[in-house]
Amino acid sequence: MTVLDDVSRRLAPVLGERLIANPAPDSVHFFAPDDRVPALVARPVDAREVAAVVAAAAETGVPFAVRSTGHSYARHGVVADGLVLDLQLMNGVHIDAERRVGTAAGGATAGAYTTAAHEHGLATGFGDTGSVGVAGLTLGGGIGYLSRRDGLTIDNLLAAEVVLADSTIVRVSEQEQPDLFWALRGGGGNLGVVTSLELQLRETNVITGGLLIFEPSAATVAALLSAATQAPDEVSTMINIMKAPPVPFLPSERHGTPIVMALVCHSGRPEEAEAALAPFRGAGSLLADLVRPQPYPAMFGAAPSQAGMQSTIRAGFGFDKARAETAIELIRTAPTVAAVVNLRPMGGAIARVPADATAFAHRHHEVMTGVGALDPAAVGPDRSRDWVTEAADKLGITGPKYVNFVGENDPDAVRDAYPEPTLRRLAEVKRTYDPGNLFRSNVNVEPAAADAR
Ligand SMILES: Cc1cc2nc3c(=O)[nH]c(=O)nc-3n(C[C@H](O)[C@H](O)[C@H](O)COP(=O)(O)OP(=O)(O)OC[C@H]3O[C@@H](n4cnc5c(N)ncnc54)[C@H](O)[C@@H]3O)c2cc1C
Repeated sequence: MTVLDDVSRRLAPVLGERLIANPAPDSVHFFAPDDRVPALVARPVDAREVAAVVAAAAETGVPFAVRSTGHSYARHGVVADGLVLDLQLMNGVHIDAERRVGTAAGGATAGAYTTAAHEHGLATGFGDTGSVGVAGLTLGGGIGYLSRRDGLTIDNLLAAEVVLADSTIVRVSEQEQPDLFWALRGGGGNLGVVTSLELQLRETNVITGGLLIFEPSAATVAALLSAATQAPDEVSTMINIMKAPPVPFLPSERHGTPIVMALVCHSGRPEEAEAALAPFRGAGSLLADLVRPQPYPAMFGAAPSQAGMQSTIRAGFGFDKARAETAIELIRTAPTVAAVVNLRPMGGAIARVPADATAFAHRHHEVMTGVGALDPAAVGPDRSRDWVTEAADKLGITGPKYVNFVGENDPDAVRDAYPEPTLRRLAEVKRTYDPGNLFRSNVNVEPAAADAR
């Protein structure tokens, strides 16, 4: 009997038709499918079924990955010829407005949670895209439109239910298994399968936000970065140097030419928004101003969908303003229309949490920086990858990385994702909870050796 037959024999009675052999590639891939196609996909509906899948994976040794919505740039949620534990049916959300606690099942999307919370005038900060999984984003850190006000998503994580490698189901919080709670907040999918997350909700109803689009200029990039770092915590920003998309609010002759786009979100008192956003509006020559009061979930509509595309990214921290001109030139000559230099100013509440309080230790950086290329078939993955590498090198994007923006399936990435003391502590927790390294389709932390204490 092959290992896959063994897995099927164990799981078919538990999952029935929710154990799928030879799945269609696009049913597991969010980006354009590549050759990593699993042989089996298990779609549990509760923690007990997740535990059965984990036990089958551990006991058979089948190649194994955990997926919630498949948005990992390095495609860690899929594994070739193995078993994928796919949480897409565990997608429920519950909003307890009185306690201000939101609960997301392990496969819920940020968009579904945000829409449900908005009905109560509440929100938890995630990223910039509604289709991203709450679990995957939170386990890495979670940076987005409320981060300078409320901290990273992990700073708002109150508790989680986790299925461990030995298939026990535990509740984890500051009081319960605090070592595991520390590690979950930034340690990626290394520690277990998170079947539910409880998150702090904060009052967030109508924000003042949207797009500001400028003529491409290094001075504008520098002014936006200064505005973002000096802004009140209620303003979170993302700056994209990119080619203009074919949108009706830009003249057609500008389409495909470089622009500087700021995505701003002011989540403080509406009457303070104009003053807080004035330095952003004044950062350069405006081509379009779409910033206005709008419901917070509308911010998720600002970024174009990447579904079904080939994506290549390289990311790090820090941005030398003197290289802004280089960034604009790189965009001008990029081989694809969908190329971007993405700057995410940090600071505010992110920086007020001590670096060792969670497994996300990159809090002191002023800006997170990424280069990305989406690659419609015409361009080809090699040209896009070459451009991303060249651009990242020219912009000096090397060294530490945000674990959720690791773009390649590279075993050395773990040393960039975690500074040495964090990695050592993560490896200790890993040894306690996953000594056999069952959860390894991720930016993998190997368990500490037995004599490493
Ligand atoms: C279009 C797009 C926009 C993005 N924007 C942002 C952003 O604004 N801010 C930000 O911080 N990040 C952002 N990201 C990055 C995102 O946080 C990561 O890609 C994250 O890993 C996605 O999680 P997922 O659950 O959707 O992915 P999946 O591919 O399903 O999972 C990725 C990995 O996460 C782990 N994992 C996922 N779910 C679980 C679970 N329930 N239990 C245990 N392990 C789990 C597993 O190791 C898995 O291999 C974006 C990504 C994309 C593609």
